Amino acid sequence: MADMLDTDVKSLYSAASVAAAAPNASVGAQQPLISLRNVVKDYDGLAGTVRVLQSLSLEVHKGEFVGVCGPSGSGKSTLINMITGIDRPTSGDVLVADTLLNKLSENELARWRGRSVGVIFQFFQLLPTLTVVENIMLPMDFCRMWTLKERPVRAMHLLEQVGLADQAHKLPNALSGGQQQRAAIARALANDPPLLVGDEPTGNLDSRTADKVFTLFEDLVAQHKTFVMVTHDNGLAARLPRVIEVVDGRLFEGSAARNGKAA
Ligand code: ADP
Repeated sequence: MADMLDTDVKSLYSAASVAAAAPNASVGAQQPLISLRNVVKDYDGLAGTVRVLQSLSLEVHKGEFVGVCGPSGSGKSTLINMITGIDRPTSGDVLVADTLLNKLSENELARWRGRSVGVIFQFFQLLPTLTVVENIMLPMDFCRMWTLKERPVRAMHLLEQVGLADQAHKLPNALSGGQQQRAAIARALANDPPLLVGDEPTGNLDSRTADKVFTLFEDLVAQHKTFVMVTHDNGLAARLPRVIEVVDGRLFEGSAARNGKAA
């Protein structure tokens, strides 16, 4: 299990030191932070090809806090993986933070991701053999952000921001679930990305802890981060300024799904 987590986290940042994104992949800065145009995602299985995302389009502007809701298996994680560049569309354009992701090579994508998106997972995915502060420095090391001297200072500053400075030199498994998720949030902030993405980031926390972590997310949005998060928690979704629903691979704004109106 630990090896699996190691692999997952490393795959987020690996190859981050390779060549920068091709110049012709960049576009003007006037675009929304996230713009998906007619995105289709098919998976090939034993029973043939399954269309998981059905030509969906979405715009998210800087500073928005957007919830992604919908039934299990409807395509929420697939949508999130398009936005983070973890997976590629079968067709359509994915433009995030001024970069057309579908034009990038795997190495370019990894480099872009390490600097542009902080991903927060349901099960934290901290590396168990590194201390908390070492986990926070990891994305900086992979992306060669800040000087060697600055990295631990920045990591401690981020741990202070999430209220964990006194836990910095412990291993992750010595922390509670809520503390581990706050450490994962500090790690997501390591390279100061404009975009934060959470795939059920409060799904493994009790409701009181989930509430505190959500308040931290609200603080980050107030500090001009853009946040897109999948949640099954109706109470938290009710606090979000914007909610989109994914139903059978189609996108609906707010409660439009109930009216049968696709975005
Ligand atoms: P959600 O996050 O809403 O639960 P997912 O995006 O994880 O849904 O999955 C949507 C559908 O796509 C599901 O039917 C799932 O089985 C299928 N799916 C997801 N990833 C793959 C994959 N790598 N290969 C084949 N099918 C997949």
